[in-house]
Amino acid sequence: MAATIYYDKDADLAVLKGKTVAILGYGSQGHAHAQNLRDSGVRVIVSDRPESPNYDLAVSHGFEPMAIEEAAKKADIVSILLPDEIQGDIFRNHICDRLSPGNILLCSHGFNVHFGQIEPPEGVDLLLVAPKGPGHLVRSEFVAGGGVPCLIATSDGAPDEIFQIGLAYAKGIGGTRAGVIRTTFAEETETDLFGEQTVLCGGVSALVKAAYDTLVEAGYQPEMAFFECLHELKLIVDLFYQGGLSYMRYSVSNTAEYGDYTRGSRIITEETKREMRKILTEVQNGEFAREWILENKAGAPKFKALRRRERQHSLEEVGRRLRRLMSWIDEKEVD
Ligand code: NDP
Ligand code: MG
Repeated sequence: MAATIYYDKDADLAVLKGKTVAILGYGSQGHAHAQNLRDSGVRVIVSDRPESPNYDLAVSHGFEPMAIEEAAKKADIVSILLPDEIQGDIFRNHICDRLSPGNILLCSHGFNVHFGQIEPPEGVDLLLVAPKGPGHLVRSEFVAGGGVPCLIATSDGAPDEIFQIGLAYAKGIGGTRAGVIRTTFAEETETDLFGEQTVLCGGVSALVKAAYDTLVEAGYQPEMAFFECLHELKLIVDLFYQGGLSYMRYSVSNTAEYGDYTRGSRIITEETKREMRKILTEVQNGEFAREWILENKAGAPKFKALRRRERQHSLEEVGRRLRRLMSWIDEKEVD
């Protein structure tokens, strides 16, 4: 069944009248929500930590960042836009006791709510308003008169009034200019984790590395392997983005298109699909969430080791060298 999509005409900013929205965390999403809501006439207060460059950014945007406790206490709607892995602890230690009945706790990703890391006190409702794009786009599109599509969810059985507040918030950040799709905390969280693990981050990185290694092991020059297996991926993904798989296939050569149809299914096989279903089950039954929460509680040793090891892959070294030859690339380096 196709989803219902809500637009500007379906949302009324007046339901936010007299309410204060606290934006906790002035990062990617936080800086965009705070400024867009303020530009939409909503009363906004923000919080970030004084040692963060984002604190100074908030000040330069005319906000007076305050401690999380103070912002949570003053606000009617508390929007938690902190890194996901610290939200649970911060909620329990600094936010929970400052909420009063009638307040709303809002997030942009359902992980902590869905997996029980955030459990609001009696009388406090939950909302999810999740832009389907990074914060800088949420801000730049808004300024340009557009918006980034959003997802919206309430807890099961929440009154319609809460949903209307969520729609108004989505309107305030520009989401209803593009379209807002209703979902549930479970669906947003599970599809998000599944997508990033199997395709967007995990699947695609593994595919690129395996193809690069295959060429290099067969004696081809690493530079050639880099261009073919990583660099050109962007051109292909841009075509997906503009017109789906069909437009990519229309744009490439017939030889490439034939190779796609006849060879792709030998790479992603029934076995891959079985593993995808296993990964989905681990997402759904909370196994992945438990592992990641415990990993963070232990100081993330496995995560840090994996990150270190992956950064040493020869693909990364070759890429660094080759990107320097391409002056148009806005080259980024992580430390
Ligand atoms: P960021 O990491 O960009 O921003 C988080 C902000 O919180 C930073 O300003 C950070 O400051 C601050 N912060 C970190 N630790 C603390 C602390 N202990 N006390 C107070 N402030 C702190 O996060 P995002 O905006 O990317 O993510 C926020 C939420 O939005 C997440 O739930 C995420 O899943 C969701 N989301 C993100 C999207 C994206 O594309 N980025 C898209 C859709 C949803 P400092 O700079 O010092 O770390
Ligand atoms: Mg995501």
